[in-house]
Amino acid sequence: MRKSKKIVVKIGSSLLAHSDRLTLRYGFINGFLSDLSQLMSEGYDIVLTSSGAVALGLNMIGKRPDEAGILDKQAAAACGQPLLMNAYKQVASEHGVNVAQMLVTVDDMEDRRRFLNIKNTVLRLFENGVLPIINENDTVATRELRVGDNDRLAAKVAQMIDADLLIILTSVEGLYDRDPSDPEAVFISEISDVSEHLASTTSISALGTGGMLTKMQAANMAQNAGCETIIAEGIIERPLSSVLNNERRHTRCLANGKAASPLMVWLSNRLQVAGTLVVSDAVAQAIVEGQRGINRSEVISLQGDFTKGDVLHIYGESGKECARGLANFSAEETMMLARNAELPVEAVLGYKTKNAIISAENMLVLEEHHLPWEAPSDVPKLVSPL
Ligand code: GLU
Repeated sequence: MRKSKKIVVKIGSSLLAHSDRLTLRYGFINGFLSDLSQLMSEGYDIVLTSSGAVALGLNMIGKRPDEAGILDKQAAAACGQPLLMNAYKQVASEHGVNVAQMLVTVDDMEDRRRFLNIKNTVLRLFENGVLPIINENDTVATRELRVGDNDRLAAKVAQMIDADLLIILTSVEGLYDRDPSDPEAVFISEISDVSEHLASTTSISALGTGGMLTKMQAANMAQNAGCETIIAEGIIERPLSSVLNNERRHTRCLANGKAASPLMVWLSNRLQVAGTLVVSDAVAQAIVEGQRGINRSEVISLQGDFTKGDVLHIYGESGKECARGLANFSAEETMMLARNAELPVEAVLGYKTKNAIISAENMLVLEEHHLPWEAPSDVPKLVSPL
């Protein structure tokens, strides 16, 4: 009988490529796909988010990971992605599984319409028993417009398909309370508040772009979307079913108790910042205390070339992010409206429309379980009177 439990699995470059030769680890891929195909035949719907394109393509452009610049990595991704997919396709077919490739950018994931198109494609692939394999489209993503790491991309996919579980397979067993090479380090098997563990997560793997920090951020995004995350070692026999059956040590990040509405999840789980507004600390406090929007006279400064419908991050003057909300206007319109807050909207924009910069019903007040974003470092545009 079909259980239709939805799982997103993320595997990192260090599992897929030998760190010295930067060639495919066929043995790992074979064992992994054998396990995965078994789960699919038991009725699980699985999406695979796979890194590895850059690492596997570096040989073709003659660079080592530590000397490759952004353009080298983009070129390497173009070389490595077909190698990766070729391996998946060949090995998966030996296990009776058809695979499909989906390359996405941060823009695709943060634009509501494209996000839903991607989701519908995944669901249609599920209906046909095909395994979707997702990676970031590195060749078209510029430095500012990158998801950056596949951990958070996988969490976004988990949110997209309303997954029950996100499994991040990596080169370590899970999270420790400090650097695992420290003999005093204690393994953490269960996490409910991700923010308590950010301090111990600075190490970065040699081949991938993430480290434990991005895994924690991903786990936070997943838990906001009502999805549990498992972080576990990948180079192991039956890497998926052994954690599903609780046969070995791993770190489990629990989902938040009550699932928020899709709009609130959309507001909480961001991959990039489209724009920011700064308000006084008193207004920030009022936002935190009650369900309210942001009025024109309350905007002190703004940053980013955002458009109507983009998600804005709201900061108090002291630099702490307090809320997020959907912009009712573009950056230019917002600037004009805030500078001329005493004039009617129609007199400023030439047409009648909403008065608030962000409406109360489109605001998410950040709570403890949301990880805030750092305030932007570049100088925001000041809203000074004309
Ligand atoms: N998209 C990159 C790749 O395929 C990986 C990014 C990551 O490891 O998080 O190599």
